[in-house]
This record gives sequence, C-alpha cells and structure tokens, in this order.
Amino acid sequence: MNVIEKQSGAAFKLKNGQKLKVIDPQGEQVSDMVLFNAEDTREKISSGKTLDFEENILITRGDHLWSNRSNKMMEILEDTNGRNDFLLAPCSPETFKIMYGNSDYHPSCFENLYTNLAKFDIEPDDIPTAFNIFMNVQFQPDGKLSVDPPMSKAGDHVIFKAKMDLIVGLTACSAEDSNGGSFKPIHYEILD
Ligand SMILES: [Zn+2]
Repeated sequence: MNVIEKQSGAAFKLKNGQKLKVIDPQGEQVSDMVLFNAEDTREKISSGKTLDFEENILITRGDHLWSNRSNKMMEILEDTNGRNDFLLAPCSPETFKIMYGNSDYHPSCFENLYTNLAKFDIEPDDIPTAFNIFMNVQFQPDGKLSVDPPMSKAGDHVIFKAKMDLIVGLTACSAEDSNGGSFKPIHYEILD
C-alpha cells in the first residue's frame, strides 16, 4: 500500500498487464491521474479520444482510457463509486487565481504532477487533461457545469489494468471545491 499525502502526488511505472488500484481511504477525495507511454512519452492519455471512442462523458467500469494516438492505455476493471470526471484540467496555480481569487501560493495537482514526473523527463507543458478519479462534475442540459463534493465513501476504489508499459502520475487533489472543502490522502497499490 502506497500513501499519497494530502495535497501531494506521485509518479511511477506500471507494466503492461499490471493493475493499479486507487483507493479513497476516507471518502470525498479526488485523485487526478495522467498516463504516458513509457517507451515514448509523446503518447499520452487523451480525454478527447476517450470520450469519443467510449461514446460517453462518464467513464467507468468496462471502459478504456485511450491515448492521443488512439491506443488503449488502460481498462477499468472495477469502480465501486462509479463517478469520475474527464472534462476538467488538473487544478493549477491559475485555477486558484482565476476561480478562487487567491493569488497566494496554493498547492495544485498541476504542480504535483509535473514535479513528480520530472524524473521521467516530462515537463509542465506535457501534462494533459487528467482522468479525475472520484471527481463529481455535474452538468445541466444547457451545458452549465458544477463541481460538487465527491460521492465516494471511505474505501471506494477503482482498479485499472495497463494495456501498455506506462508512466503514471497520480495526486491527492488540492482544490477545495473538488473535495468537499477538506483535503485527504489517496492510497494506491500495484497488483500483478
Ligand atoms: Zn486538483
């Protein structure tokens, strides 16, 4: 069991066929995940390709996460909560300036992704839209979006199976509105 402390992140390799279990240990905590092909990091997870090929904006068990080169990167084997977001970008310093009116330093998924992924030569501009595990984005028929508290309960988890050798970036999200107003850790396990 690996622990991502609140408002922090991790990056690691996952081999083709290995499984990644991402756990919300306390409930109501989002985890942003980005994926890169370990052999060529110009290939990375794509929200656009995934929503297109899965013909759905709510990605869950049975769906795949697709790359910008239209290859399957992961399959979702289990999803005990069932609500994830793949529309919104990782929270960043600018998120807190623009949406929260806070110009002071604030931890963010964007910073926690690029600092942890730097050891794989991945740069800030390489970070794509993340798959936001447990994130509860609701939308109205007119397209209006709202970020509501996650519906995940303590112990909810998602199991992903790698479909190629991957570099994975994973966070415990730092945005107040995405996490019901408080920050919690995220746990993960790599299963063979
Ligand atoms: Zn975040």
